[in-house]
Order: sequence, then structure tokens, then C-alpha cells
Amino acid sequence: MKNIVEEIVLKAVKMKQPTMEALDVLKRNFLRAEKVKSVAPKKSDLLKVYHEMIKKNKIKPNFYLEKLLTKRAVRTLSGVSIITVLTKSYPCPGKCIYCPDEKDMPKSYISDEPAAARALQLEFDPYEQVVRRIDSLKKNGHPTEKIELIVKGGTWNAYPLQYQYWFILNCFKASNLISQKSKVKSQKFNSKLKIEKLKKDLLVEQRKNEKAKHRIVGLTLETRPDFINEKTVWEMREQGCTRIELGAQTVDEQILKIIKRGHGILEIKNAMHLLKLYGFKVDLHLMPQLPGSTPSKDLKMMLEIFKNPDYRPDMIKIYPCTVVKNSELYTWLQKGKYKPYSDKKLIETIISLKKEIPRYVRISRLIRDIPSHHIKAGNKMTNLRQVIQVEMEKQGLKCNCLRCREIGHQPGLQTTEYGLQTKKQALSFLRKQESIGRLSWIPAFAGMTTKELSYTKSISLFIDKYEASGGIEYFLSFEDKDRNVVFAFCRLRIDKNGLFPAFIRELHTYGQSLAIKLESSKAIKNKKNDNEVQHTGFGKQLVIMAEKICKENDINTLAVISGVGVKGYYKKLGFKENQTYLVKKIK
Ligand code: SF4
Ligand SMILES: [Zn+2]
Repeated sequence: MKNIVEEIVLKAVKMKQPTMEALDVLKRNFLRAEKVKSVAPKKSDLLKVYHEMIKKNKIKPNFYLEKLLTKRAVRTLSGVSIITVLTKSYPCPGKCIYCPDEKDMPKSYISDEPAAARALQLEFDPYEQVVRRIDSLKKNGHPTEKIELIVKGGTWNAYPLQYQYWFILNCFKASNLISQKSKVKSQKFNSKLKIEKLKKDLLVEQRKNEKAKHRIVGLTLETRPDFINEKTVWEMREQGCTRIELGAQTVDEQILKIIKRGHGILEIKNAMHLLKLYGFKVDLHLMPQLPGSTPSKDLKMMLEIFKNPDYRPDMIKIYPCTVVKNSELYTWLQKGKYKPYSDKKLIETIISLKKEIPRYVRISRLIRDIPSHHIKAGNKMTNLRQVIQVEMEKQGLKCNCLRCREIGHQPGLQTTEYGLQTKKQALSFLRKQESIGRLSWIPAFAGMTTKELSYTKSISLFIDKYEASGGIEYFLSFEDKDRNVVFAFCRLRIDKNGLFPAFIRELHTYGQSLAIKLESSKAIKNKKNDNEVQHTGFGKQLVIMAEKICKENDINTLAVISGVGVKGYYKKLGFKENQTYLVKKIK
């Protein structure tokens, strides 16, 4: 095995821009070429051999590879694995000038982007894409019980309705059937498929998925604002969608015209309003350095997005505009009609944007995974996010976004640094801490980092209240007292004109293993009354708090937009199925 690992490391250090996907491909190809049947080596094995090889002068250090191998598996932080699948090539109604248009690819995707390359190889078959991805995650030691499914490819709602339902049906089928021993063949798409039958079959698969081994706990679809209406919103709910990636790029009317977006700011505002009315989470795509923009206009855009209650998204993706060959912008570049900012200016601009991000927003991505040889102009730094982070630290600045404050993104020490190698050791350590009064609560499961431990004494509940799209949003979160680290959060929306008057749009706990032991003041006073000591998870406490806020607002119906695979969790908390949601009557 060691030689195999050495060979892989030897190849990996030569990678200029190593990504997790590229590394997975490298490992897979190597094992296939060498006809090795064993499971691909884990990151920890690679890292160990990497260090040994450096010591022996067999290789030169590769900083990026080292970071990649050292990094905790971000995508499985809370036990949820992200699976990205792509739809087939289909004309997008948009004519956006920066958008690549490659033959046989869905609009805006390039065939050698990691997820796109995988999809192309499988002819965009949804069933095969999900099955292969679950297999590969498993092989790399990631948990696959909870899946966040992200469907990409142009504008979802522009695809024929049959195709949409067929696609989603096959994703659910794949997660339900993968554990079966006998190989199941995927169902091919044909335009004669009856929509009613597809809907019925989808419902059956969704029901099965509620109890399946691989559950789809969240489903994201991407679309354009002008395709959001009551009908499409409802269809996406039937499909099990919980989050929308909404392409806006800017909220400057003039720039929207220049880039030929084909819609204005009114459509963006209306779409955001409707999506929130139906409980969806909204991840808004934004592009600095578009033609017609300047760093100060980019900053103005960001300020507008968070000052104006008509926007205020839950998440944003910042994709600085880049010029790729198969786009209209490439001809603009050649004619000298467009010039991107310098790297320095771009970094300064993004830092100025990051400074304005409120705590309730998550910057879910910064830059797109476009292989740099496709980029004719614009940012080529694949590690731009890290470069910006380092620069901000140098300037004494900090990004307040949710992602930067999530417990899993804290550069914490591992429990192993306490010499605690096993769960048993960690648990007894925690008990000892508790017995000497150092912890007011103990984690139910001992897999925590020391960083997590160091915050335990100061975790508090915070409530940020703000107006958005005609409703009031409550961002409830468990954080350390300085609000640098977030352990769990909940997005509660109160809008008496909404589909339901109160909606839990998102509930997230980082590290499923965390459980908190709360001592009510009464229990502390009356030591005998141990029953009063609650033992409950962050998630449940946040739901209880949401119910309390509903009561304060004279609301007796609380709905939750729940991924199919987490319905069981809410049912245990007293929620019942209602249309595509789960609803609880609050007494
Ligand atoms: S709407 Fe999206 S996919 Fe369609 S052209 Fe514009 S950017 Fe590309
Ligand atoms: Zn951030």
C-alpha cells in the first residue's frame, strides 16, 4: 500500500491547483491504471507519506496540497455530504454576455469543471450521477447518510416540466436504491413520459427516502429571477426543493442592461419576495467587476443589497466576472470594450464587500471552479478566498459572515492534541472537567475539538431581528459570547401574508454530535430535582425558541420547509405534514 500512496503523492505534488475533486480523480485514475483493487488512500494516509517524503528529500513541498490534505472535510462538517449533479444541455433563455456557451454542455458550464466533467462522462444521467457520487464519497471515507443535493445547469425552470420531474425522480430513486445488491438500471428520459405519473412516482420515492439509508436532507435548484412565479415555486416545492440559487449578478439597473441579463431589479425583488413567502432559502449570485461597473459601484451594490429590505438574501455567492472563450464578453475583451480590474484592485474590492456582510448571511462561495486555462481575463487565483482572508488578517479586518464563524471553519486544535485518542478518553476527560466545575455542560459525544471545548462555557443564544421582503426575519443562533463562533442557527420568518404566518426556513447545527445540558435556574436552586435538568440538542432548543416567538406574535401555526430526509426529525417534534411542508399548531 505504501508504494501506491507514495506514487499518488508524487503525482499530487505536481498539481498546480489541487482541489479535492482533482485529487479524487487522480487517485481513481491511478488505481484504475495500475489495476489496483484496494480502496483509495485517505487524506490522512497521503499527508503522512507526504511529510515522510519531504523529510527524505523525495519531493518538494506543495503548500496548496498540504492545505488540502490537512483541511477538515468541510463538505461533511455536520455529517452532510454535498452531491452536485448537472442537467443536460438545453437552451437557456438568457443571453448574458459573460456566460460560456459550450456545445453539449448546459449553459454556463465548462466541460472540464470537476462536477461538469463527471456529469458529461455519465451523459448527464441523474441516476448514475448520484450513484457514482455516493460510491466515491463512501470510498473516501465521507458519511453519506445525509445528502445535500445541488442540481446545476442553466435555468432549471426553463427545462421541460417532464424533464424536471424525471430528473429529480431519478435522483431520489438512486439514493433509495443504491444499497440494493442487484444493479438497477436508470430510466431513460423520453418526452412522452406523463407528468402525472412522474409526480406520483416522485412522491413514492420521496416517502421511501424519508427512511432510506441515504437521505436527501436538502435540495438546491438554480434559476433566474424572471422564472420565479407562483406556478414554478409550487412545482419546485413538489420536487422537494428547499433552497434556490438565484442569479442576479448585480442590482444596478444600468449594468443589468449592459450585460444583457434580460431582466431588471424588479424581477429580482419579486422573486426574492415570493421565494421567502414560500419558505425557501435564497442564495443570491453576485458578480463584481462586470462591464459598466467600478469598485465603488460594486460596493454600492453590496450596501444596497443589505440596506434595502427588498433584497437581504440568506446566502450569497460572489463570482468575480471572468472572461471565458465561448462567451460574448470574449469578443468585447478582444475589441478592448472590456477590461477587468487588476488582481490587487479585485482583492481590495472584495475586501470592501466582505466588510459589509451582516452576521446572518453566509458567503457560500467566492470564485467559481473554472479551470484557469479557460480564463482569458479576470481572476485566475483558485485560492482567492484564502488570499483575501490572509490580507484581511494583515489589515486587522474580519469577515463576519456565517461561514467564517461556523465552528467547523475555526482553525481549532483537535482533541488529539490533548492526547485524547479515543472517544472513551475524551469522554472521561470531559467528565473530569465537569466534576471540577470547569464545564457547565458536557457534550453527549466526545469528538470535539479543543477550540469547541474552550467555547463551551460561554455559549449563548442571540437573536438578530431584521425586516426582509415584507416580513420580519429572526436569526436565532447559539454563539460564543464574542460572537466569533456559531454552533447552531435558525432562520425564522414571521409574515402574516405568507403561505404560513411563521416559517422556519433553515435550521442548522454544526456537528451533529453536540448536545447541551442546560441547567434551569430552578434546578440549580433545587439540587434534588434532577429531572429539571434538560438534556436537549441545539436544534430542538432553537425550535422551542421559534415557537416562543410565534406565541409572542399571536401566531399559532409554525411551518417548516423541510428536506425530505429530515421530515422525521420534525415529526418527532410534533410537526405534521401539510401540503409539501411540515406544520405545528402551537398551543
Ligand atoms: S441566465 Fe444564467 S445560464 Fe442563462 S445565460 Fe444568463 S448566466 Fe448563463
Ligand atoms: Zn465570511
